[in-house]
Amino acid sequence: MVKGYEVVIGLETHAELNTESKIYCDCKNQFGLEVNSQVCPVCMGMPGALPTLNEKVVDYAIKMGHALNCKINRVCKQDRKNYFYPDLPKAYQISQAEVPLCENGYVDILVDGEERRIGVTRIHIEEDAGKLLHSDKFDGCSLVDLNRCGVPLIEIVSEPDMRSSAEAKAYLETLKSILQYLGICDCKMEQGSIRCDVNVSVHKPGEPLGTRSEMKNVNSFSAAVRGIDYEVNRQIEILENGGRVEQETRRWDDVKGESVSMRSKEDAQDYRYFPEPDLLTIVVDEERVNALKNEIPELPNTKLLRYVRKFGLSQKEATFIAESAELAALFDGCMAKGKYPAKAYATWLLGDFIKYLNDTGKSVSDTCLDADNLTELVGLIEKGTISNAGGKKIFAVIIEKKEDVAALVDKLGLAQVSDSSALEAIADEVLAANEKSVSDYKNGKTNALGYLVGQCMKASKGKANPGMMKEIILKKLG
Ligand SMILES: [Zn+2]
Repeated sequence: MVKGYEVVIGLETHAELNTESKIYCDCKNQFGLEVNSQVCPVCMGMPGALPTLNEKVVDYAIKMGHALNCKINRVCKQDRKNYFYPDLPKAYQISQAEVPLCENGYVDILVDGEERRIGVTRIHIEEDAGKLLHSDKFDGCSLVDLNRCGVPLIEIVSEPDMRSSAEAKAYLETLKSILQYLGICDCKMEQGSIRCDVNVSVHKPGEPLGTRSEMKNVNSFSAAVRGIDYEVNRQIEILENGGRVEQETRRWDDVKGESVSMRSKEDAQDYRYFPEPDLLTIVVDEERVNALKNEIPELPNTKLLRYVRKFGLSQKEATFIAESAELAALFDGCMAKGKYPAKAYATWLLGDFIKYLNDTGKSVSDTCLDADNLTELVGLIEKGTISNAGGKKIFAVIIEKKEDVAALVDKLGLAQVSDSSALEAIADEVLAANEKSVSDYKNGKTNALGYLVGQCMKASKGKANPGMMKEIILKKLG
């Protein structure tokens, strides 16, 4: 709720698929190559050139359909969406109109620790358009690069199920991590591999839905958040001033932080869709649909929910681990041993381990850490055999070399003293040498306790079991 209004958000997300070749020709599908070097008569829209569907595009889209719990339409066609724009040489885009390849799905997301289910209306396949290049160097003209013409896209249309910009962001982040897990999209926002259009409306609770506006040109998740918040406030302001929200398409300008009207409902485009006559009906057999389903690993959003519900990790911890397939595999390997709490592992993985990976630029599999040596290390700390500080020393070794953890405890002299008579002797010595702190403590200055325990740890050269040490001191201070 914003200022007494309920916010309704739906998203149309375009993701470029990372197939080897384009959707209807053999041209290379790769970003950043020399302008107009990856083109042929088909993707340049030459008269008489015939498209052939790249079957990988269908496979990738079906995988995403499975991941988003969609019904897969095994029989569907492709349609021409007619419009004129200089980056579209054919003057139509091949897309899918009434029957998309996938429809009626959903995705579960986590927002501020709470689970939400967002409906997915449809996923269809289509081709990308070229790109206009504007620069002062061109004497005020714009040039066109057709390398992107025919790059395969899936468009994922959500139900209007989101109620805040935070939910929209979580939804987009979830889609991104799923696309990455499936390996079907590069997800490089700066290269435009994921883009979205945002539909927003506001209404008072209990009243009918408000008129929505569609915002285009939203090129990052943070821009989506800013764009939605701007649009929500703009619409509320209009309503509060007794006005009416127009149904229109707006363009988000992230630099200026505002949206501007592009066109109203009256001049909305009529795309005159009709079935693409140059392509056959898509027919996918059931075995193929099922085989693709079997290729799908446990997805990051499912992992995330499992880590939070079953293992009690925080959303932040769980997200961090679940987002990396390698890190998640390591964590799952540790938890499969069923020995120690998830938090104990998460502390290492999200602390020293991530720091090491960031500092060295290595990936998880480049290191020597595995579920066995990490579990052994966690066990030594949980049992009090070594201190946390000692654990860090061992961790630094086993991350780089396959060394026996138990042997390292001896080699590095890290075993904690947990023998109570030895600890009592240390305590007696320290208490005798620090009479002032003892009387401070007895006069109510409780922080003197920490000082005394610290002195004992120092006297033991860091080897005393700190928990036991504290108990002994407390007992002696009576
Ligand atoms: Zn081509």
